Amino acid sequence: MPYTYDSQNIFAKILRGEIPNSTVYESEHTLAFKDIAPSAPVHVLIIPKGPYVSFDHFSAEASDAEIVDFTRSVNEVCKISGVRMDAGNGFRAIANTGRDGVQDVPHFHLHILGGRSMGRMVTKTA
Ligand code: AMP
Repeated sequence: MPYTYDSQNIFAKILRGEIPNSTVYESEHTLAFKDIAPSAPVHVLIIPKGPYVSFDHFSAEASDAEIVDFTRSVNEVCKISGVRMDAGNGFRAIANTGRDGVQDVPHFHLHILGGRSMGRMVTKTA
């Protein structure tokens, strides 16, 4: 089944300027902004500007330029947020994906969480 993108999702509205956001960093193909309900002292969402529903969709269909731009943006956000390993204490990057990944907003986004220890990754119940 092909990926289908819902252009009414909240991050699409942010990209169109229809609702405000707290921008941390912006580049040609990528936008990063503060999560509205932060789960850690640093909680930034990094999104591609293109219409990709998930990390797998993005990695399958985005152009090389978009992928490079997104990846470099991760570094910029971590630098701005003071969580890079060379100058800070690190971070956790999370891409919730689909139903099992419990993804709420169907526009690919990478959570950057830091500013405190993030604890164990997941509960081992499998
Ligand atoms: P996920 O469950 O991975 O899809 O996460 C969606 C994230 O988007 C949650 O952490 C929300 O707090 C965040 N979020 C929802 N609406 C907004 C908004 N308008 N601005 C910033 N973050 C938002």
